[in-house]
Amino acid sequence: MTKTRKRNAKQEAQRILAEHSVRSAPVGVERIARALGASLEVRPLDEQLSGMIFIKAGVPVIGVNALHHPHRQRFTIGHEVGHLVLHRDRLEGVVHVDKTYPMLRRDQASSTGVDLMEIEANAFAAELLMPEALLEGELTTPLDVDDEERLTALSRKFKVSTSAMRYRLIGYFFE
Ligand SMILES: [Zn+2]
Repeated sequence: MTKTRKRNAKQEAQRILAEHSVRSAPVGVERIARALGASLEVRPLDEQLSGMIFIKAGVPVIGVNALHHPHRQRFTIGHEVGHLVLHRDRLEGVVHVDKTYPMLRRDQASSTGVDLMEIEANAFAAELLMPEALLEGELTTPLDVDDEERLTALSRKFKVSTSAMRYRLIGYFFE
């Protein structure tokens, strides 16, 4: 069931990418967030907070930790946009805070509803920032995820952290 939900999240990201005519890396995740009506607030937050999302007077507000690396901020924005696209009905009247680096959450079949939301938002963010179609264009020769040099070059091209790219390439987000 979790796998189906992740696949749905991935498809939703692909739909958004198509709607916004994204054809090259890096994906303009801030532009997409704004086009979806969200207001972005990049501010210094506690180190353990990556971001948050809430609806204020009908406007989605995405908060991002300014102290984190820009590539990590981009994944956070993608994650919060995932919540906006996938879970908007569950955001009314609450402030959704992402306390730990969402990437490090391990998938568990026995996930609670909240964990499932995080897993879905991560799958959405992974596909939004590292779209399958664009990655395929880069991976004309197989990439060894332990090849730090190539992994770093690929991560820079997509403006994501190397750990995000490694997780993406080993299929972590969608399996
Ligand atoms: Zn979240």
